[in-house]
Amino acid sequence: MSSVEYRYVTKSYDGGATHALAGLTTEIDDGAFLAILGRSGSGKSTALRLLTGLEDPDSGELFLDGIPLRGVKAHERGVGMVMQMPALVTHRSAGGNIRLPLEFAQTHGDEIAERLAAEAADLHIASLLKKRPGQLSGGETQAVQLARALISRPRALLLDEPMARIDHEVRSRLRGDILRLQARHGVTTIMATSDQADAMSMADSILVLDDGRLQQLGAPLDVYHHPINTAVARFLGEPGMNIVPMQVVDEGAVRAYRRGALRLPAWADAAGRYLGRDALVGIRPEDIEIVTPDEGRVSVEVDRVESTGSASIVRIDLDGEPLLVRHTGVPPRPGARIGLRVDLARLHLFDPYSEAAIHHPAI
Ligand code: ADP
Ligand code: MG
Repeated sequence: MSSVEYRYVTKSYDGGATHALAGLTTEIDDGAFLAILGRSGSGKSTALRLLTGLEDPDSGELFLDGIPLRGVKAHERGVGMVMQMPALVTHRSAGGNIRLPLEFAQTHGDEIAERLAAEAADLHIASLLKKRPGQLSGGETQAVQLARALISRPRALLLDEPMARIDHEVRSRLRGDILRLQARHGVTTIMATSDQADAMSMADSILVLDDGRLQQLGAPLDVYHHPINTAVARFLGEPGMNIVPMQVVDEGAVRAYRRGALRLPAWADAAGRYLGRDALVGIRPEDIEIVTPDEGRVSVEVDRVESTGSASIVRIDLDGEPLLVRHTGVPPRPGARIGLRVDLARLHLFDPYSEAAIHHPAI
């Protein structure tokens, strides 16, 4: 168990043509669980690989418990990793794979057997130990990889998209297993994921990475409620926040945001800075209610509907800009006229040039 630190860590590939990581600086406390959240190609796996010692950064330094890692060989770092692509040795049984790190470390046979039994019991995989990797399901493969990463009692545990290729049902069990083992071992854990629900539900803090750059670091709900810029706002949520360019207009006593059929009273003082111009208004899809055309303040036409069973995402075209609404009742049909009611106290505001947050609602 150890604290982890990245200090100005930069890594590029293809002779500098691809910047995978640009000056990443962050600290993870001993025993904490950090999720690195970002779309594909944002640099998540690179951040993890640099910690294992499989690759070295171009510049910057990584620390484990305050000790610089440059020059420390991979097998001496005490970092356990579950890779994005399953990396089990195919001619060995599941149990044979889990034992590997201890065999490398020339641990005594009795101790290996004891620890293998303990890890297998912890992960409910005792019955799988004799199977070959090819005979394991996706969830079983990840449990075996997790056991192999934990058996040598690592100082830090790295999980690279551990739930990516696993069906829904097994997923929530694996989430639970990871959390339980993380707490039991008290091991500092970094999980890379592109799934914001995994990040929100599992980690103590979330680091949002975009294009190799740290966008925001904070507690899950804090990042959700106070996204620092439009990239983070769009990324968190199911679906993410609507970011709508709207003109700020003075209508005598009141100020309003306007776009197409939509006119919303602007309560934020900061809106005054954009009078006569466009600002980016942030509206969460769950902060818009669908009502009948006469009940709503605006009446609009439904463009498209995507239903997921329990909820549907209703898309409206606002003068060329999409507006997504999360709706839990019977979904309207495409082409139908509906009314909208927007929770005005929940609007966010972003600067149109820097895309930085200017105003967040009070929670
Ligand atoms: P993520 O895990 O978030 O999907 P990666 O860290 O794998 O992102 O990759 C970040 C960027 O670096 C991408 O543009 C990717 O194509 C590039 N990259 C990663 N590994 C290599 C490599 N070994 N060779 C060349 N480019 C790479
Ligand atoms: Mg990756």
